Amino acid sequence: MPLALAQNVINLTYVVAALLLILGIKRLSSPSTARSGNFVAAIGMAIALVFTLLDGDIDSYWLIATGIALGTVIGFASARLVKMTAIPQMVALFNGVGGGAAALIAAAEFHRLAPDSGHVAGDDIGAMLFSALIGSISFSGSLVAFGKLQEVLPGRPIVFAGQQAFNALLFAVLLALGATAGATEGGWWMVGLLAGALLFGVLLVLPIGGADMPVVISLLNAFTGLAAASAGFVLDNTALIIGGTLVGASGTLLTILMGRAMNRSLGNVLFGAFGATPAVTAGAAAAASDGKTHREITAEDAAVMLSYARRVVIVPGYGLAAAQAQHNVRELADLLERRGVDVRYAIHPVAGRMPGHMNVLLAEANVPYPQLYDMEDINPEFPRTDVALVVGANDVTNPAARENPESPLYGMPILDVDQAANVIVLKRSMNPGFAGIDNDLYYNQKTAMLFGDAKASVEKLVSAVKAA
Ligand code: NAP
Repeated sequence: MPLALAQNVINLTYVVAALLLILGIKRLSSPSTARSGNFVAAIGMAIALVFTLLDGDIDSYWLIATGIALGTVIGFASARLVKMTAIPQMVALFNGVGGGAAALIAAAEFHRLAPDSGHVAGDDIGAMLFSALIGSISFSGSLVAFGKLQEVLPGRPIVFAGQQAFNALLFAVLLALGATAGATEGGWWMVGLLAGALLFGVLLVLPIGGADMPVVISLLNAFTGLAAASAGFVLDNTALIIGGTLVGASGTLLTILMGRAMNRSLGNVLFGAFGATPAVTAGAAAAASDGKTHREITAEDAAVMLSYARRVVIVPGYGLAAAQAQHNVRELADLLERRGVDVRYAIHPVAGRMPGHMNVLLAEANVPYPQLYDMEDINPEFPRTDVALVVGANDVTNPAARENPESPLYGMPILDVDQAANVIVLKRSMNPGFAGIDNDLYYNQKTAMLFGDAKASVEKLVSAVKAA
């Protein structure tokens, strides 16, 4: 093979690629360096790919070129066409494909090493088994997550009696299949393992509510990373081992951080069937208010309050993303700043529907990074804030999380919006947010509701501030 490079030269380039991947991930930790971090990591990935292609063991470059061409077209088109609000399901889909690829590698290597007897030497079996099991779970689980987020499947938890016991039994069978693998002649265990793991992935994700999908996707992402790392052992490819381990570690950390931000354990997310009770409807929300009343405000009155404030804190949430109001919010903030108002943005770690959702949206509207404050930094500032302007955020502002031990949100760290002198909430109705829980903030005497689509409401505020 004329292209073949010495293995130690290839391994050296893998180390360079790994360093670039780590540097890239490090730079993702701040909005100001995230774009270049992505680029640096992409270069690392390109180096790993190119030098893998120079490996002397490759049989068919045509097959690989076809795969790369197909993947490039699909990846490029998806990245261009997908709407920002649909990114979580795109991540789920791409993540699932990664897990499926790792499982297929395990199956293909099994067939290559043992075309007849199905008996593979002990060293390779562990990695193959792990890759097939975890990769398949990640593949089918991610497809279900995609279906729930895309609303092809019902978003509510799908549960049946004895489900957890059945899942535990199925998992035990899969482990038993694996345990017999080393000693058994015949390829039936690999087929059984793949089929059982695919079923397990479906059953694992079905009982989880659509709103918990970001956490599940992050967990499945960690699974895919680990499956890819063990596929790296199967193929003896250092780059795949390093890359897979990085994905596994970062997916695990992200899962833990999201759980912490919601004060939910992973067990509660996976087995709690959160959101199994039907979401509260408008009528039910009114009943849940227990005779409490809310106050409405016109855009004109709200604009006067904002214009004459010394400090305004904008609290973005899922509704801002759904309405695509980020550019209008930026325009409003600019207008207020020109009038001498100190404007800040309060970013809750799980506002929206994916980690970093609000940062991405506000960066799209070129909101200056220094105006973005994390929850820990902005909470002490609310008592010194004249107006908290809540744009499509709900659960992340619910004081019940602080005050009501009976609330399912109890213990979740929230933005202490109710400690501002005045609160203006922009949303379309009194309907609850993702958690399906009535928000006490709306009945607070300081709070005024401006009903309507967030984009239309902010547009009205912009016109009214200009006129004020
Ligand atoms: P939220 O609690 O889901 O509330 C969003 C609010 O936006 C709704 O109450 C809705 O009220 C309003 N809304 C929807 N479309 C709108 C539009 N076009 N114009 C104006 N308002 C609109 O959102 P959040 O406060 O951002 O909280 C995020 C939730 O997601 C939390 O419960 C969090 O635990 C969960 N979660 C997030 C992540 C993550 O990674 N970000 C992960 C897992 C779970 P109306 O229908 O009345 O308009």
